[in-house]
Amino acid sequence: MEAINSLAVPVVQHSFGIIDWKISELKKIDTKTRKLLNMHKTLHPKADVERLYIPRKDGGRGLIYVETAFKTATVGLDHYLKHKEGQYPKQRLRTCREDKSASENAKALKRVFKSKMKSMKEGRWKNKALHGQYPKILEKPHVDTVTTNKWLSSNLKGETEGLLVAAQDQALNTRYYQKVICGQQVESKCRMCSQHEETMDHVVSGCEVLAKTEYISRHNNAAAYLHWSICKDHDIEITDKRYEHEPETVMRNKDNNITIMWDMPVNTDRTV
Ligand SMILES: [Zn+2]
Repeated sequence: MEAINSLAVPVVQHSFGIIDWKISELKKIDTKTRKLLNMHKTLHPKADVERLYIPRKDGGRGLIYVETAFKTATVGLDHYLKHKEGQYPKQRLRTCREDKSASENAKALKRVFKSKMKSMKEGRWKNKALHGQYPKILEKPHVDTVTTNKWLSSNLKGETEGLLVAAQDQALNTRYYQKVICGQQVESKCRMCSQHEETMDHVVSGCEVLAKTEYISRHNNAAAYLHWSICKDHDIEITDKRYEHEPETVMRNKDNNITIMWDMPVNTDRTV
């Protein structure tokens, strides 16, 4: 996304105001970019399109929408030219000053326009029956949006990110999706437990069958990283790479005054 935004988009952007672009042509560029992302498995074909163009800190993927970039540039340029006119060339100094304020005003106008376009996009994203469920949850008071969206700025591989975003958009081919969204004649219950609807939420964290195996290993993977970091802090010998770390039930440091336990029952006076 960064490469597209900083290397490819500017090639088109520099021609705004010079080449007489038609909106339909710019739309084609946006579509073609999405097609390329699809081909390289960075954007799931059923994932949300609006979300692709929403800033990463707001839960989107931060791609520049060429059409919006064009409209913003044009609005700014129009404002600048209108307010620059008429003063020239009475007095050089005065013109310079007015030029400056015209360009600053144009910049401010561009900012307002940009944020209006952004909120329109967010509105469209939230209003979608299926894809909109995720941004709606983000608005709930118990959700910390900053930390929730932090993973989107953590340099994951494009394919991994594309898949995770598609899962959040509930666009993956679950049985529930096949039946309710695609209207196919299939069983919508989970193929592992046959108890609940096979939604994305169920697969990720609600299935009793997966809980015994997959959820535990996922939990232990995260916990192993904590264990590795704690061992590191106390000079206990560990592997260089955190993912090669296999926690032992009891680990001690060299001075033998610190013991770190893993997966060990602890007896308490009353049930915790
Ligand atoms: Zn299940």
